[in-house]
Amino acid sequence: MNFLEEKILAEGCVKQGNVLKVDNFLNHQIDIDIMRQIAYEFKRRFKGEAVTKILTIESSGIAIAVLLADLYDVPVVFAKKSKTVNSTDDKYVSRAYSFTHKTMNEVFVSKPYIQKDDKILIVDDFLADGQAMSALIDIVHQAGATVTGLGVAIEKGQQDGGKILRSQGYHLESIAVIDDMNWETGEIKLR
Ligand code: 5GP
Repeated sequence: MNFLEEKILAEGCVKQGNVLKVDNFLNHQIDIDIMRQIAYEFKRRFKGEAVTKILTIESSGIAIAVLLADLYDVPVVFAKKSKTVNSTDDKYVSRAYSFTHKTMNEVFVSKPYIQKDDKILIVDDFLADGQAMSALIDIVHQAGATVTGLGVAIEKGQQDGGKILRSQGYHLESIAVIDDMNWETGEIKLR
């Protein structure tokens, strides 16, 4: 078991609706040592790949992105979420259904922050159905830039996001993959 899998089993809490709550170290209180280890693990797994920017989505991906960007010494860009984006002239806009909030969000990045020659490593805290990742990939493609790889801390393997993104040929790395969770017993099965 790796450090993140151990942390999930020790402190993760299963909620109804296939939601894993990890507020104690990732989504509310941030355990900086775990974030650092996640960043080092991504750096190791994407070794040799060219990276000019780290892209994530607000808000929980930002901590991971910042520590990883520090290792690469590149900027972080985070996509912002909004119910509606008024002007799109100066923004790349995509849409993602939020698994946790059950709402459709527009997500956007201002155009100057992604350039054609950027090689972008996209990271997030969770991968479930792949909506958030797909919106970020779409934004990178709109900008004409390149997706170097996709890094997620926790992949929920019982949802299809990982399968879809791998079948599209992306280099996807997940540090912990959950195969099953039961909110009634609290059991978490790791891959
Ligand atoms: P997806 O877009 O892949 O369906 O879901 C990923 C996004 O939803 C992540 O950005 C994450 O914030 C949130 N998410 C999905 N599943 C969970 C979960 O089980 N627990 C938490 N805390 N967030 C989740």
